[in-house]
Amino acid sequence: MVKLTAEQPQKLQTSITPARDFQDWELNHFQQHQAIIWQHLNDAVLICDDRMHVLTVNPAFERITGFTRADVIGQNVELWRSGLMNKRFYRHLAQTLEQQALWQGEIWNRRKDGTPFPAFLTVCKQVVSAVTTGYVAIFRDLSAQKEAESHVHNHTHYDLLTELPNRQLFAQSLGRLCSYEDPFALLVLDLNDMKTVNTSMDHQTGDDILCAVAHRLSGRIRSSDLLARTGGDEFALLVPGIVNRRQAEIFAKQIMGSFDWPFQLENQQLYMAAAMGIALWPMDSKEPDVLLSNAEQALFEAKKQRLPLKLYSSELRRNLRSRNKLQQDLANAIKYHQLSLVYQPIWDIDSHRVVKLEALVRWQHPERGAISPVEFIPLAEESGLIQGLGQWILLHACADLVKLHRKGFTQIQMSVNRSTPEFQTIDLDAREWLTTIADMGLDPKSIIFEITESLLMSNQESNRQRMHALRAAGCGIAIDDFGTGYSALSYLRSFPIDVVKIDRTFVRSIPEEKQECLLLDGIINLVNNLGMTLIIEGVETDDQLDYLRQRQCSYIQGFLFSKPLPFDELLSYLQRVMPSRQ
Ligand code: C2E
Ligand code: CA
Ligand code: CA
Repeated sequence: MVKLTAEQPQKLQTSITPARDFQDWELNHFQQHQAIIWQHLNDAVLICDDRMHVLTVNPAFERITGFTRADVIGQNVELWRSGLMNKRFYRHLAQTLEQQALWQGEIWNRRKDGTPFPAFLTVCKQVVSAVTTGYVAIFRDLSAQKEAESHVHNHTHYDLLTELPNRQLFAQSLGRLCSYEDPFALLVLDLNDMKTVNTSMDHQTGDDILCAVAHRLSGRIRSSDLLARTGGDEFALLVPGIVNRRQAEIFAKQIMGSFDWPFQLENQQLYMAAAMGIALWPMDSKEPDVLLSNAEQALFEAKKQRLPLKLYSSELRRNLRSRNKLQQDLANAIKYHQLSLVYQPIWDIDSHRVVKLEALVRWQHPERGAISPVEFIPLAEESGLIQGLGQWILLHACADLVKLHRKGFTQIQMSVNRSTPEFQTIDLDAREWLTTIADMGLDPKSIIFEITESLLMSNQESNRQRMHALRAAGCGIAIDDFGTGYSALSYLRSFPIDVVKIDRTFVRSIPEEKQECLLLDGIINLVNNLGMTLIIEGVETDDQLDYLRQRQCSYIQGFLFSKPLPFDELLSYLQRVMPSRQ
């Protein structure tokens, strides 16, 4: 029997029994080259006696651990335990070795400088005549591999900007939670003005805000909750332990408290707002995909109603269903020509003539009766029907204007409303619209396109180009509902605009409300100073008209003169109020 001792390292090495299936000639070779293998092997090898005291180590051991042979010979292998593995682990290792004479697995050891490192370890027990004579351990340093793996893991599971879990990790966690029995809430959150921030400030500011939001939200959750950044300005939370809507609402309000005070940027403070949609597991669905889509629908609804948060509910589901149905009906209405146009006269009170008409679309639903454009235009925008609808409107408004011109009203211009998504999707030289106008044989000067302030706010070069193209061809550009959106005063100057239409909310309480009068006066002065034409909408009373007349506002649109009229009624109206035509 060979008893392993520290004094006989060289002899020991020869006592290692090679694998059983070695052929004799292989064994010969192996023994011849052992010294080379020992010297140059990349894996660390150490040989211990039966009490786990080190007898010898190879150079790779010294390289990997930083310990020299002198440091470790005679020492117990516990010397490089990292402290990261628990007692159970070592007990299990010892038991396996005892029973099977072999243990393999990952382990954390420590280097001489104290840093822990992962290793893949193989330990063999040597037994001679039923007596344990020693142990051989071989291990490979896994640090580089682990680092590469964790790098990949971080890249695929975490958002680089905010360091929060990303959509993929979030989806995995959601799937896992759905497979357990415990109730939880799923919250999706969307920042409201991120687009404006990104277009009006630099991208670094946008990034800073996202990080600040992530930081604030993280401060309001518990360690058991998961907060993820699931998209550009979208975040999602998984909140275990929430069992009913009331609890969910209280928690959501706490989260939304993050937006109660402004975000401090480098040289300014900025208030941010967000909207949130909430769905509960298992109440609102047990399926991860459906649950997420329900929370997103609730978010969509919150945004639409301009509410900070909305819980998914069966009522919401019903509303969505009826909206989907309406969308379908609208698609049919466009296809089967159930829509019509009415025209509202715009008067020049100086010359006492109708100088322009505004085309307004109408929908007579076969079951529901008249549906307001305030309801169906946003629906058309959401569903991508607006382009087809807008084209139909332009075509018919042009056709009716041609008829009017033929009846002798040659000076009348037609003002056509354009939705923002519609404007943004035409080509940069606005060829679609200009071709339609030309095909109808109309001078582009007789067409005005009404767009809204929000389009100016997006401040895209492409929008400016489209406006220039339309104006170069002779069309007019009007800003509709001026003063209702963001304050676009500074933008007004920088865009090629001919007409500004003041929203009727500014006219409603004049001349009684002094504040309102001051506000309106200010806007009138501003637009006049910019040399643009001003149209006041929603004029209903003689008092309003008198007030506006005193302020030299000559273009007036409103029920006082006429409601929007179907073409035939419009024609009679024009023939009545302008018998001499021009
Ligand atoms: P808008 O462009 O501001 O149109 C003016 C709205 O004010 C029209 O409502 C008109 O009927 C109403 N109105 C006009 N004078 C008065 C008045 O003296 N008093 C009151 N209370 N209201 C007055 P309508 O036709 O219901 O249209 C509502 C909105 O729907 C429009 O607002 C516009 O944003 C959109 N819209 C209507 N037709 C079209 C269209 O053909 N294309 C697009 N994209 N949007 C349209
Ligand atoms: Ca309009
Ligand atoms: Ca308007």
